[in-house]
Amino acid sequence: MADFITRFAPSPTGPLHLGHAYSAMLCHDMARTAGGQFLLRMEDTDLQRSKPEWDALIRKDLAWLGLYWDGPVLRQSAQLTSYDGYLTQLAALDLLYPCSCSRADIRAALSAPQEGQPHDVYPGTCKSRAMSDRNKGDALRLHLDRALALLADDLPRFQETGKTHKGAHNIDPEQAAQQIGDVVLSRKGEDIIAYFLASAIDDATQGITHVIRGEDLFDFTAIQVILLTLLNLPVPTYHHHRLIRDENGKRLAKRDDARAISTYRDEGKTPDQIRQMVGL
Ligand code: GLU
Repeated sequence: MADFITRFAPSPTGPLHLGHAYSAMLCHDMARTAGGQFLLRMEDTDLQRSKPEWDALIRKDLAWLGLYWDGPVLRQSAQLTSYDGYLTQLAALDLLYPCSCSRADIRAALSAPQEGQPHDVYPGTCKSRAMSDRNKGDALRLHLDRALALLADDLPRFQETGKTHKGAHNIDPEQAAQQIGDVVLSRKGEDIIAYFLASAIDDATQGITHVIRGEDLFDFTAIQVILLTLLNLPVPTYHHHRLIRDENGKRLAKRDDARAISTYRDEGKTPDQIRQMVGL
């Protein structure tokens, strides 16, 4: 087994743009420099927005950029039973509760100002509900206080090698309660499983030793490390890289079709020019 295994994990919901290309090239380069492996994972749990056409275009773009992945591609839509197994483990630890709050309910509960509680943390309306009360259509939330109490003797930690947050990070329970709260792990309907749970589980499934991804995902790391530790799965090293921004300083998004790799290819640009454009 290689000492350095990393992955590129796009969601096939649109074309790859310059920001994705930078992430994929950096991941690939770091894996090759380390004599390790570069894996590909399609994060297609959003069944409504994920399309086989985007999956095919992403593979074509990566090949055109000269990025070849090792081994088979893991598709998350083929892993749904495995996620259920992990949710069952968390339920057996009494760490989940059903939640019927709509987005509007959550907003209304939050609109009464609560001291020290940042805006996007779930106010806990359904917190006292038991799993046996779960109705069809309820989401499942992590009971963070109980999760942290369970880990209190050996609080999770992780290493970050990216420039902005470089160093060892210890999970601070108070900060986690204020910044993360009781996140939704599973939702009936379009998003069956929360992205950050599926992604963390698959990092373990694929034996990822180094997660290399954009700085916009740094804030998910603490919750992913908590979940991995609860599930007795290995915690990788993280490397969050700079984001490629447009001329107004905004992070590129899927809708930025003008910067789609396929558009540059059609215009006659070369992979080397793409590397230069993103500063590699
Ligand atoms: N699928 C996520 C995205 O396309 C990336 C997840 C990750 O790298 O952890 O933004």
